Amino acid sequence: MTKYLVVGAGLFGATFAFEAAKRGHEVKVIEKRGHLAGNIYTKEVHGIQVHQFGAHIFHTSNKKIWDYVNQFAEFNRYTNSPVANYNGEIYNLPFNMNTFNKLWGVITPKQAQAKIDEQRSILAGKKPENLEEQAISLVGTDIYEKLIKGYTEKQWGHKTTELPAFIIRRLPVRLTYDNNYFNDSYQGIPMGGYTQIVEKMLQHENITVELNKDFFAKKEEYLRDYDKVVFTGMIDEFFDYKLGELEYRSLRFETEVLDEDNYQGNAVVNYTDAKTPFTRIIEHKHFEFGKGEKNKTVITREYPADWKRGDEPYYPVNNKENNALYKTYKQLADTQAQNVIFGGRLGQYRYYNMDQVIGAALVTVDKEFEG
Ligand SMILES: Cc1cc2nc3c(=O)[nH]c(=O)nc-3n(C[C@H](O)[C@H](O)[C@H](O)COP(=O)(O)OP(=O)(O)OC[C@H]3O[C@@H](n4cnc5c(N)ncnc54)[C@H](O)[C@@H]3O)c2cc1C
Repeated sequence: MTKYLVVGAGLFGATFAFEAAKRGHEVKVIEKRGHLAGNIYTKEVHGIQVHQFGAHIFHTSNKKIWDYVNQFAEFNRYTNSPVANYNGEIYNLPFNMNTFNKLWGVITPKQAQAKIDEQRSILAGKKPENLEEQAISLVGTDIYEKLIKGYTEKQWGHKTTELPAFIIRRLPVRLTYDNNYFNDSYQGIPMGGYTQIVEKMLQHENITVELNKDFFAKKEEYLRDYDKVVFTGMIDEFFDYKLGELEYRSLRFETEVLDEDNYQGNAVVNYTDAKTPFTRIIEHKHFEFGKGEKNKTVITREYPADWKRGDEPYYPVNNKENNALYKTYKQLADTQAQNVIFGGRLGQYRYYNMDQVIGAALVTVDKEFEG
């Protein structure tokens, strides 16, 4: 039997803890926040499950992971079909025939393709040197101006002409009247919210959980007292930033309860103009088809923000420099912290969707227990 300390009660930490406990190991989970579930934390307000850290839609094409997560919650058939609001004009996302019909009045896929090709041609075969040129080379000028430019500038805090082209490798253009954002075989929202998933994972006699406990308050003690540590916090912070700081993007959420039934008619509305300071408004009750108290709704505005130490690091910025720096931290981890497993989006410094983070945790579990 091994004594594990899992740092972080998010999806990676909880999946690992659940699997280790099932195999008879003793697991202590510490979490610096006052709640379980990390960024997938949901909380009920007026009968509505409020996604506390941004809209979370579970989607995957991996049947094994879909079955795995379904043991902890029943999922509804929610289908992500966000809309864009560009200065009061509403467009369907992802870019599809409904979008093209509204933009140009075109009816057939051939007409839409011809319009896109005509607008892309303004670059005259020039190799895109920045994000603006890259986006135009992929989808043409109208979609770029109305649906990409303002949104991307707000997200990154830079002009698209100052952002590198590689950020957008592809922009899916769908020549069908299908507003379903994801191509995955399975998607949905857990009825009753996400927190129950982590609660159930951690409800095991071999697991103890302590909230409001920061690993760094007693780092040396923890490393001494446990056989192994699974660390899902920031890898650069673990090493006291001694090789330098990795870069992250942060977010600010502004949540409001409104005395009305239906504020915007959709769970997710993206604001794609440059002037509106937030990128999207989430109306949470639509994730569960309007469930909740009558004449109440909860909305959240999402504002992208620069990150500095002490802020929540929501997104790793995986550019060349940061990836190279991460690699050097990874080498340090492999050579100087052999009893520590670094996992999750902060420990491995990469953007993971929920299905991917469960997948990554299960790979770690296999390595750890099955050799
Ligand atoms: C705005 C937003 C929207 C998203 N939408 C989707 C979506 O629609 N679909 C999807 O599949 N995925 C989505 N994701 C991704 C999803 O949130 C992640 O895949 C998942 O939360 C990652 O789990 P994790 O355990 O790696 O990290 P986290 O959930 O961040 O868990 C890490 C935990 O470790 C704790 N911790 C850190 N440092 C310490 C420390 N020193 N001591 C103690 N505890 C510590 C943190 O407080 C946190 O609770 C979204 C992410 C964001 C930011």
